[in-house]
Amino acid sequence: MPYVIAEPCIGVKDKACVAVCPVDCIHEGDDQLFIDPNECIDCGLCEPECPVDAIFMEDELPDNWKSYAEKNAKFYQK
Ligand code: SF4
Ligand code: SF4
Repeated sequence: MPYVIAEPCIGVKDKACVAVCPVDCIHEGDDQLFIDPNECIDCGLCEPECPVDAIFMEDELPDNWKSYAEKNAKFYQK
């Protein structure tokens, strides 16, 4: 159950999360940053660092942002 970056990151992208991730599994996309679901170790360190509360455990994503789990995963399916 990885962490997922949702809508609030769009347009912010300050990368505060990247700085603390111990496994470097957060990467920049066109509109937002994404977490690699196969690399995330669920440490939770990134979540409190985000100034706009964009990071959630996958099963704690608000209903209207559930699609972001797939959006994060898709970024790594190239
Ligand atoms: S939960 Fe930990 S491993 Fe996963 S993205 Fe955040 S900092 Fe990285
Ligand atoms: S800390 Fe939050 S807003 Fe900043 S890049 Fe990470 S997810 Fe996006």
